Amino acid sequence: MSCLGDIGEDALVKRLIEQLGDECAKDESIILGPGDDCAVIDLAQRGPCDQYQLLKTDSMVEGIHYLAGTPAAKVGWKAVARVISDFGAMGGLPSHLLITIAMPPEKSVSYLEKLYQGMQKCALAYGATICGGETSAVPENAAAVISVAGTGWVEKSRCVRRSGGKRGDLILVTGKLGGSIRGKHLSFSPRVEEARWLTEHFRINAMMDLSDGLGADLPRLAAASQCGYLLNEQSLPRNKACNIAQAIGDGEDYELLFSTSAKTVKQLEQAWAKQFPELMLSVVGELTDNDHDAVPSGQGWQHFKSH
Ligand SMILES: [Mg+2]
Repeated sequence: MSCLGDIGEDALVKRLIEQLGDECAKDESIILGPGDDCAVIDLAQRGPCDQYQLLKTDSMVEGIHYLAGTPAAKVGWKAVARVISDFGAMGGLPSHLLITIAMPPEKSVSYLEKLYQGMQKCALAYGATICGGETSAVPENAAAVISVAGTGWVEKSRCVRRSGGKRGDLILVTGKLGGSIRGKHLSFSPRVEEARWLTEHFRINAMMDLSDGLGADLPRLAAASQCGYLLNEQSLPRNKACNIAQAIGDGEDYELLFSTSAKTVKQLEQAWAKQFPELMLSVVGELTDNDHDAVPSGQGWQHFKSH
């Protein structure tokens, strides 16, 4: 089995580009895909100008976000899904992705090919196109790094920030929380369709995706909205065999956390149940005056702090 150190960068890049197929040619907005100094996008093809462009980059480090033994296609899915989840969290959709890979020379070529298969599968599932990237070597036995950068877009009227929450808003989450490490963190479905539906039909005041755990992310949303919050721990939708502490503290749920006015919620819940009968929607708390903070912040995953 050949490894990256055997075949060299040019041959590797050629194989990875071949593997991506002709998706770039099918995307009318892409004037140039991989192979030149830059990818070239025709913004006029992106549609009407009442849109914002969204920019996002995210990286995953072997040993931190995934293990060396994790199937490469799952790692690839996750790397792209994390970025797409953030586009959804703004109420938007992804468009173009750039992939940067830094791998030690002993990694096999087939590992890289499977990684790209997983990335491509996720990109296509959400209407995004991988249109370029970069590969680099890291020293032998050093941790691999996968970075995905992307552009997306959202109608100006449907862009939802974390900071728009209002006192008295109810706080809702999609799906169930906790225990993602058992597998969901590798195979989750970014809630793009759900977020698009929410912003099409209801006034969503604040929204984000749950990446670091409710206990870390809810305080961020509340602080951005200059509110405090009350969390009803008993109402937390929990994954099987998860206790309340896990539902609050475990990271990588990749569900939507959002706030909307109390008078909106009943109608929203009824319409949701019809539209997404398979996916739970739960009211878990309320935004309050600034001085109210019912779950101590510092729960959930805080990067660069020991857990
Ligand atoms: Mg996010």
